[in-house]
Amino acid sequence: MEETLSLKTELAELDKRHFMHPTSSIQMQQKNGPEFIFTNGEGIYLNEISGRKFIDGMSSLWNVNIGHGRQELGRVASEQMSTLAFSSAFSTYSHEPAIRLSKKLSDMAPGDLNVSFFTSGGSEANDSAIKIVRHYWKLLNKPERKKIMSRKLAYHGVSMGSTSATGIKEFHEMTTSLAPDFIYAPAPKPGMSESGNETVNLICIKETRELIEREGPETIAAFIAEPIQGAGGMIIPPKGYLQEMRKICDEYGILFIADEIITGFGRTGKLFGIENWDIVPDMMTVAKGITSGYMPLGAVLISDRIHGELIKSSKGTLFHGFTYSGHPTACAVALKNLEIIEEEGLVENSKIMGKEFAKELKQLEEEHWTVADGRNLGLLAAFELYEDPQNRKRFDSSLAVSKRVLQKCLEHGLILRSITYEGSDTIAIAPPLIITKEEVGKMFSIISNAVGAVE
Ligand code: PLP
Repeated sequence: MEETLSLKTELAELDKRHFMHPTSSIQMQQKNGPEFIFTNGEGIYLNEISGRKFIDGMSSLWNVNIGHGRQELGRVASEQMSTLAFSSAFSTYSHEPAIRLSKKLSDMAPGDLNVSFFTSGGSEANDSAIKIVRHYWKLLNKPERKKIMSRKLAYHGVSMGSTSATGIKEFHEMTTSLAPDFIYAPAPKPGMSESGNETVNLICIKETRELIEREGPETIAAFIAEPIQGAGGMIIPPKGYLQEMRKICDEYGILFIADEIITGFGRTGKLFGIENWDIVPDMMTVAKGITSGYMPLGAVLISDRIHGELIKSSKGTLFHGFTYSGHPTACAVALKNLEIIEEEGLVENSKIMGKEFAKELKQLEEEHWTVADGRNLGLLAAFELYEDPQNRKRFDSSLAVSKRVLQKCLEHGLILRSITYEGSDTIAIAPPLIITKEEVGKMFSIISNAVGAVE
């Protein structure tokens, strides 16, 4: 025990001195060092160096879909590394893992999304999609179609293009300037009643049309949207909204990019989130669940129609590619991960456990006067904390209510995430897709106690 503590102290000091953490408060890190140093994981659990065990209620960063500690993936990575750890996929070079993975994705994806461009993660995938649509319009002699329309509270990543497409002001404020030619449509809001949702829906669509008309439809290259807005507040769009957006895009000739980086590979109880609304996008970006986090990988899935235009043009050379586009080991791991998702019926499990989630969320609302707007699709869920739920009045932000609920959950061995943009107190929940009914019950009993301790 003493040995573990001194190792933790040593690592914490090194961490403070040398490791700048992604998306974190640098001051807090300097003051306290890392609170958790994880050593291993198994199933839905993560173990910390001091011996504490936690339910990973967020699948880490909404990505560890098949759960922790899967030896099969370790074996596949080891085999691939021992034969061909890496070789280039630029130009005419290729290798079997990337070829097989691109075929697999074409089999899985809706519609004619049959061609993949690989990246190392989600931000790169979105930046690549943005560049590919602009390239496409240039090839069609419409270079003026270059604006990217995303939405307020969207999160698309942190590279320059994806940050510019992100609609959360905190991410914009970090940099002195964004990339040009990005515009932001209104987003539906969470937590409205069905009839309220319809109103929001109509307003949203109306304002989006006005934005397109104001900007000039012939200047807009693509609309990019997460089927469910994740980091911006776990916003499940109201009925009809996404279908209407697809129609608007068709009407104005705007390409539709679905950012499936969180919602892909079973998270919402369907293989891809967009399938909940029966829409086929022109491009789709994926990452996270494609490898369940066992290797960094992302992809842009491109329709045959767009790919066809790229092939036709003599100016079609793609001056765009990352060293690790189609990394053989990452692709081999992805193939095994997708096989596990299929063989273990994890998309179905996400749907079934999603029904348990819906029941638990309802009960949570009944048990706690502060809780409202519980919502989920499959294993992507959230609820809101309010001072006056009837009137959707928020707590004063200085009370940090959602952070305190989070802290209580941690004390009882559950990791969740709070979202506080624009004064909200949202608690997000997204456990690995292998979760059982009993484990769902365990999670919600911790959540209920945590809310009870704070309200
Ligand atoms: N798009 C969405 C919807 C995301 O949630 C994320 C990450 O959370 C990204 C893009 C960026 O992906 P990455 O962090 O792999 O660059």
